[in-house]
Amino acid sequence: MADLEQQPTPGPLDADGFRRAGHALVDWIADYRATIAARPVAQLPEPGAVRAMLPPRAPERGEPIDAILADLDRVVMPGIVHWQHPGWFAYFPANSSFESILGELASAGLGVQGMLWSTSPACTEVETHVLDWLVHALGLPERFLSTSAGGGVLQDTASSAALVALVAARERATGFASDARGLAAAGAPLVAYTSDQAHSSIEKAVRLAGLGKEHLRLVEVDATGALRADALRAAVERDLAAGLRPAFVSATIGTTGVNAIDPVDEIAAICREFGLWLHVDAAMSGTAALCEELRFVNAGAEHADSWCFNPHKWMPVNFDCDVLWVADRAALVRALSVLPEYLRNAATESGRVIDYRDWQVPLGRRFRALKLWFTLRSFGLEGLRALVRSHVAMAHGLAERVRACPRLSLVVEPRLNLVALAHVDGDEATQRLIDAVNADGRFFVSHCRFHGRLVLRVSVGALATRDADVRAVGDAIVAEAMR
Ligand SMILES: *Cc1c(COP(=O)(O)O)cnc(C)c1O
Repeated sequence: MADLEQQPTPGPLDADGFRRAGHALVDWIADYRATIAARPVAQLPEPGAVRAMLPPRAPERGEPIDAILADLDRVVMPGIVHWQHPGWFAYFPANSSFESILGELASAGLGVQGMLWSTSPACTEVETHVLDWLVHALGLPERFLSTSAGGGVLQDTASSAALVALVAARERATGFASDARGLAAAGAPLVAYTSDQAHSSIEKAVRLAGLGKEHLRLVEVDATGALRADALRAAVERDLAAGLRPAFVSATIGTTGVNAIDPVDEIAAICREFGLWLHVDAAMSGTAALCEELRFVNAGAEHADSWCFNPHKWMPVNFDCDVLWVADRAALVRALSVLPEYLRNAATESGRVIDYRDWQVPLGRRFRALKLWFTLRSFGLEGLRALVRSHVAMAHGLAERVRACPRLSLVVEPRLNLVALAHVDGDEATQRLIDAVNADGRFFVSHCRFHGRLVLRVSVGALATRDADVRAVGDAIVAEAMR
């Protein structure tokens, strides 16, 4: 681009100023990451302490960018929880690799909107293509490929994916009526099903899609936390007998609490029998399917109407990045398409292009596929598989130590990268364990409740986590338990 004529930029930074500040910011990020292990993982300031450092009104006069950059250290850092820390074992990994950051920066730099193919063809085509790559990379069914009747789309989050899947399911179940008269003619209220371990986003989707919270069934789970297919069948039959219309099931691969895996095959059989839409929420654990030996997470995927996972969790693509695949894109597009005059264009009319605005709630969309493309290419599938395998091996190593400790018990057998454990003396002892492990700032673990019992969760999956970090958190857990 150097031989093109240089244009002055209206704004405080000209191109050279941006170059200089950009380099400084990249240096700052690189330094932060290089020294992150020395910081306490999660040390919270007093509520209001961050705001107290900010002036009450926005500045009238523009400030130098250097002053703003300096305030990253002064104002922002004291209120940062270090999700990229090697001792990050809480909630779920939210990996933000350098490679994905570069893709994010390129996306912001281009600043394009990709709501239509014609508003930036590369934005659509790179996305479609990379999501086809991922179907192959994860060993998912061919019906999710863009070359079949289905296809993939990037959403911001698994919550949005569940919402659009449910709206498509609702429209399919009501003959794509889309108006109050149509919905009324469709008759009985629709009912959605998921397990009592499912993510809260499913309930939110049910409320947003207008089914009504009273038409969500939280089906009971077995000892491992997996949805009981017999209980699902009983619930569906009960609702049918009561004159309601079962319409949607969300199965979870890797529940938020203890990483349970629902029996998608058995659930799919029920969905087929009763004509229900099957959505699979594999937000964190879908990434495991990169590895052939972990493809049990894909069991039943060939029967799913929609399937989603978050590269922004275990796969090192920075937030936000959720992939939603559907088996029948026509259902999704019919449910969500609204075409105002100002968006009419020849490419759309030709039917030869994808317009992703019809696959999501917002109209506008950024070039989110770039960070996925950067990450997939720079790690390579081999590199990503090695990462997943290392995390699973580290988690299993930790589980071995828990098994060997007489004061600890595994709440469920870990299958992937999450170790769920408890103190044998009960909840108070488990709480003391959690507090002690988190006390010195080297690690951060979180908790959940499972079948009434308090659980200490060690979620292994941060990009920076090494074997020594997992051994160290294991030392801390065992030492405290034996005290
Ligand atoms: C994290 C998670 C979600 C929510 O993800 P968002 O992308 O933040 O909406 C949903 N389901 C499961 C199983 C999760 O682990």
